[in-house]
Amino acid sequence: MPTILGIPLDINSSYLRGPSRAPAKIREAFRCTASNGWSESGVDVSSPDGLLDAGDLNLANSKEKVGEDFAEIERTVGALLDKDREGQPILLGGDHSITYPILKPFAQRYPALTIIHFDAHSDLYDEFEGNRISHACPFARIMEDRLACRLVQIGIRTLNQHQREQAEKFGVEIVQMRDLPAYKQLKVRGPVYISFDMDALDPAFAPGISHREPGGMTVREAIAHLHAIEGAIVGADIVEYNPARDVAGMTATVAAKILKEILGKMSARR
Ligand code: MN
Ligand code: MN
Repeated sequence: MPTILGIPLDINSSYLRGPSRAPAKIREAFRCTASNGWSESGVDVSSPDGLLDAGDLNLANSKEKVGEDFAEIERTVGALLDKDREGQPILLGGDHSITYPILKPFAQRYPALTIIHFDAHSDLYDEFEGNRISHACPFARIMEDRLACRLVQIGIRTLNQHQREQAEKFGVEIVQMRDLPAYKQLKVRGPVYISFDMDALDPAFAPGISHREPGGMTVREAIAHLHAIEGAIVGADIVEYNPARDVAGMTATVAAKILKEILGKMSARR
């Protein structure tokens, strides 16, 4: 059964803090009675029979203790996967650095894992401003540690020479924003992990993010790509929502919609 876990960590953000306050806001929007709890695929994803909530991790969220926080993320996600063999953890960030410790226990249990990564940025920097676990670096660490068989990135629109070289080195399959749709690349065999950075969306739809990059996906394009994923979805994260940058909570509403549609996809496995 899907289990929500909040990961309030934003110490590895390079530009602005704020995503540590996202999990509570996304939950609030998800439970808001302005909308019902049904996914477009026809599942009541908010029903307690089909969704568990493990609350938020208690993290120090400081430079000094980031190693301990990463260990706690790895341990807790591993415990969720051990508790329920068919369990589907869905992690609410937090900045994108959390995906690296999240993926470690996933990789142990799913050696043939494919990651579908929605983002404006490829997050493949070897290091960023001296930080090798920056939110600009998680997919470099993940590929170095061979935590996934395939990494498919969608919506990218900020590639520089270094990140192109990194993508080539690690065999990352990038579908840039200007080359969408990417439905063909989403027909995956085997287990799938979805990592959804809210800045994949155009800032017109989701202004509550730290790095606004125009020319992004509409909410409908993102949902259409989520719906097109084939393969068993074993876990997911939604990261980089920054409530401090939001306008009237609209980005929280979009994050909650993305959460509903991912949960709807997850339920198809059961
Ligand atoms: Mn990212
Ligand atoms: Mn991003």
